[in-house]
Amino acid sequence: MFFIKAMPEKKPFTALTRAVRAGIETDTQFGAVSPPIHMSTNYTFEGLGKKRPFDYSRSGNPTRAVVEQAIAELEGGAGAVVTCTGMAALTTVFHLLKPGDTLIAPHDCYGGTHRLLQSYDQKASLKVLFVDQTDKAALKKAFDAKPAMILIETPSNPLLRITDIAYAARLAKECGAISVADNTFMSPVFQRPFDLGMDIVLHSTTKYLNGHSDIVGGALIGRTKEMADTLYWWANNLGTTGSAFDSFLTLRGLRTLDLRVRKQAENAAAVADFLYTHPAVEKVHYPGLTTHPGHDLAKRQQSGFGSMLSIEIRGGLQAVEKFVDHLSLFSLAESLGGFESLIAHPPSMTHAAMDPEARLTAGISENFLRLSIGLEDAQDLISDLSSSLENLK
Ligand code: PLP
Repeated sequence: MFFIKAMPEKKPFTALTRAVRAGIETDTQFGAVSPPIHMSTNYTFEGLGKKRPFDYSRSGNPTRAVVEQAIAELEGGAGAVVTCTGMAALTTVFHLLKPGDTLIAPHDCYGGTHRLLQSYDQKASLKVLFVDQTDKAALKKAFDAKPAMILIETPSNPLLRITDIAYAARLAKECGAISVADNTFMSPVFQRPFDLGMDIVLHSTTKYLNGHSDIVGGALIGRTKEMADTLYWWANNLGTTGSAFDSFLTLRGLRTLDLRVRKQAENAAAVADFLYTHPAVEKVHYPGLTTHPGHDLAKRQQSGFGSMLSIEIRGGLQAVEKFVDHLSLFSLAESLGGFESLIAHPPSMTHAAMDPEARLTAGISENFLRLSIGLEDAQDLISDLSSSLENLK
């Protein structure tokens, strides 16, 4: 009922082509090429008991439906719901669980996800096991607790650790648990969790899918129609669905997704190579480096290494501050995945909500910095980083 055909008859084009053309030429009134934004809260009934495809924008909106279909096709799922934030997508998916259920989560996931799950655990609404999911033995052992769901985030935020998606999906299947992959860091261009057996894919569309740092949003995609409908039902029920305006911008962002993420990954590889050999940098976490512990796995299950990387600077917090202050092309800001390069200090920013002990267990030290590499010229980015590192001497 919610998944209207937003595009003309399905033709055998790739999901990428369909995302570029999603909604184009669907305006029957004026023939607008770019699909118009539908801001209306509500839609008239044709008559008593005669509902049109949409009645109320929380339950369904024509602009949102176009982007939902495009995202579902890009991920290879049966359907999607777009939510008002990535956290709303997470909140919605956790409603598939019953009170007291056990959930396996990554021990170094996004700080907001960690905070939400920790608060559920503290209230005893859920029992949450934070596990280093790159440790296969630890992950297998965690399944002894008979979880109802596993959430994976790979590469993880901010350590860029790589979890074996197919292995996690197989363990979940054997145990009857729902498997959920947060695919925010990779986007469907570089990683397709459904092909590796996951049940649900989740996005903070705030990041790469929109890519222009001008909305907050999320998405949940179900592998089967039944799962997609259940997710849609919960989003409407909870009121976590996304707005028409944000959907309009996300659709605009999606059209250039492939170009953006490939160029950003190319830039990130050049930046990582530079940082790796610099004496002022203690460690570089980037799955594209052959020295990264998850490199081989990333090569197998991803078709690109993405544009997120983390570094540990020598000289402690003082050096971190001096380094960040001297940068011109990396804005000190939260979020990631936009066209612009950003730098964040996870212990005091994105992961400040984690308690210090959990942060240290996850490997987030005081001298840790996360970089989101944008579309600027790679040589400019490198010379900016280089001059800031020289300034530490
Ligand atoms: N998942 C990941 C991997 C994230 O990095 C974030 C935010 O940074 C979220 C989920 C939450 O998304 P939002 O900030 O759109 O609520």
